[in-house]
Amino acid sequence: MTSPTILKIAVNVPLSRLFDYLPPDGIAAIQPGSRVIVPFGRREKIGVVMAQSDSSELPTGKIRQCLATLEDEPVLSAEDLRLISFTSDYYHHPIGEVVAAALPALLRQGKPLFPTLAFVAISDAGASADVEELARRAPRQAELLESIRAAGGNGIDIESLTELIPTWRRAAKPLLEKGMIVRFDAKADAEPLQCDVAASPGPELNDDQCAAVAMLRQQEGFATFLLDGVTGSGKTEVYLQVIRDVLADNRQVLILVPEIGLTPQLVARLRQRLGIEPVVLHSRLSDVDRLTAWRNARQALAKLVVGTRSAVFTPMPDLGLIVVDEEHDQSLKQQEGLRYSARDLAIARAKHRDVRVILGSATPTLESLQNCREGNFTQLLLPERAGGAKPPSMRLIDLNRAAAAEGLSEPLATAIEDHIVADGQVLLFLNRRGFAPTLICAACSHIAECERCDSRLTVHARDRSLRCHHCGANKPLPEQCPECGAAVKPLGEGTERLEEALVQRFPNYRVRRIDSDSTQQKGAIEEALAAAEQGEADILIGTQMLSKGHHFPKLTLVGVINADQGLFGTDFRSGERLAQSIVQVAGRAGRESRPGVVLIQTAFPDHPFWQRLITGGYQRVANESLAEREDSRWPPFTRLAMIRSAAHKQQDALAFLQRATELIRIEKPEYLRVLGPVNAPMARKAGRYRAQLLIQSSDRRSLHTLLAILRPALEAEPTARKVRWSIDVDPIELF
Ligand code: ADP
Ligand code: ZN
Repeated sequence: MTSPTILKIAVNVPLSRLFDYLPPDGIAAIQPGSRVIVPFGRREKIGVVMAQSDSSELPTGKIRQCLATLEDEPVLSAEDLRLISFTSDYYHHPIGEVVAAALPALLRQGKPLFPTLAFVAISDAGASADVEELARRAPRQAELLESIRAAGGNGIDIESLTELIPTWRRAAKPLLEKGMIVRFDAKADAEPLQCDVAASPGPELNDDQCAAVAMLRQQEGFATFLLDGVTGSGKTEVYLQVIRDVLADNRQVLILVPEIGLTPQLVARLRQRLGIEPVVLHSRLSDVDRLTAWRNARQALAKLVVGTRSAVFTPMPDLGLIVVDEEHDQSLKQQEGLRYSARDLAIARAKHRDVRVILGSATPTLESLQNCREGNFTQLLLPERAGGAKPPSMRLIDLNRAAAAEGLSEPLATAIEDHIVADGQVLLFLNRRGFAPTLICAACSHIAECERCDSRLTVHARDRSLRCHHCGANKPLPEQCPECGAAVKPLGEGTERLEEALVQRFPNYRVRRIDSDSTQQKGAIEEALAAAEQGEADILIGTQMLSKGHHFPKLTLVGVINADQGLFGTDFRSGERLAQSIVQVAGRAGRESRPGVVLIQTAFPDHPFWQRLITGGYQRVANESLAEREDSRWPPFTRLAMIRSAAHKQQDALAFLQRATELIRIEKPEYLRVLGPVNAPMARKAGRYRAQLLIQSSDRRSLHTLLAILRPALEAEPTARKVRWSIDVDPIELF
């Protein structure tokens, strides 16, 4: 007798293991990648078969049986499962939760992969019926019978029928009763995506672009390229060439972008230049639309998939290329639940599939630059702007000499005037929404703070509220100090306040604020960006979201209102981040024929950071930061993992991490440095106390060996029951 097949099943629970089950009665085995319903404790859960085996650690009598399978064919391929397993191993995250993150919500809930539609079709009796005779007595029925007959043996789905004959239902009833037509449910045929624009040619590539394309074309099989090109250097044109090659080969292309709401221009450009309708995957899709897009990619009907970070898991059987645009952008990293870097997973996936991956940025991460130096990535440089546009010039405005009223200094105000008079457009960058970041009492200096977080409340003048930007708390703006009753006043500037100041100062200019408050409604971002692009505003005020990737043809002046917080950040990445955000926002200026100017207001004009940035640009900041990181042993020269915990009581959060420290010590890690446990920089958020433990290692392997032991040990820890905890591998925020 052969031993029964054991199914190794991933179940969506926070445990780092697979569960053994037997196939349901009458089924010999179920292929990996299939969803099944399993008894789990006293409940039923949906699981995914990861592997089949002939052995189990459990005695055969103890292994439970699956209740049912949900598919005729596996939803996930062997390649999809490989990426999922890799993700679970690398990020030390429970496999069942990784599977859940990789599946669209409807599949997670057990809905079918293919929607079933109701169809009607002609029966034998209907096929031989005398339609002319019927037409004399019941013309409607005859008309319907003709239409259904015309659809052939497979019938017609009722949606299409409704389009054809909106009132068909009344005539269908007698036909059904007479047995002339039949009704049944069936899978809908997948429809290839239609695109109504023909591919249009782009500009002729310049020498640097040609060299980059040639390098990319030389490569067959896996390689990681860093397309390191200044803003407006024509990186997208390089992607387009290579994408076209891959599509011509009838293979699929995956493009990952930081935030899709912010990149309608990219999607429109892909459509126009390639004559292909991109399938767009992002968090604002409805569940049904997401499943449809996912299925089309899985069937290889979608040739071009553009998506935000979770799109890295999209099944693509004919994958031929991955592009990660703006590879430095922090939104490519998921910061909660399964904490993964879509960029790093894209590289792993490209390696598994033996295809090229292109990372593009004007401000690459130091990790990627170091990978180029070490020969792991191939660096492709585009040092100049394409099509004759000049790089913007950058200058500082010393706030010690030119005081700013409401955030606006006189030299900046004068420059704004000059640029608009010369028919230019102005972008003012202030990465703080709301009216003012602090509300202070003029008499007793009491500051309005969040009750649930260790943070100040932001004044929002438009709707007269005080809001916490960390937990979302919202209350009415008080007129008086709750402590002493004196008048309160807002301190510091946010985008709302700047907007007010500009409207007062320049009553004849059109001012438009674009931040997450002003673009809450669906379609509002797209509308605001289109208006900005068409020059329907003279002055744009924006947060980080306006600094990314956009092309505003008329824009000639960028003003950075306040960047000084970034100069003194405690995170070892603050310098890199500040340089990235300034260079990116500066990159919006002068992208066409007129030169761009960037003015940066600072109270610390002598800070070495500014000297580096202004004399040597991002490259110099990056080079010097890399040297500093090497000296101080921070990434990319070491590897990090952060263990975080949060609890209602501070001592619980710390006790759990204390246990983690003890468990680490048992593993005698000579190569590891353990920092903490300590309270998180924001020790209380949304009512929970937060603590953290940082593990630093000189090599990747020892860190991962340790985490592989630590994770299951922590899952079994009694102190874990009182906390929420997580492991963050390669953390990008140390809070
Ligand atoms: P990036 O992606 O590096 O920001 P884009 O590909 O968006 O740059 O190009 C910036 C602008 O320059 C676009 O308007 C683009 O059409 C134009 N452009 C790109 N390459 C060329 C070229 N070789 N000749 C002329 N214009 C170009
Ligand atoms: Zn709060």
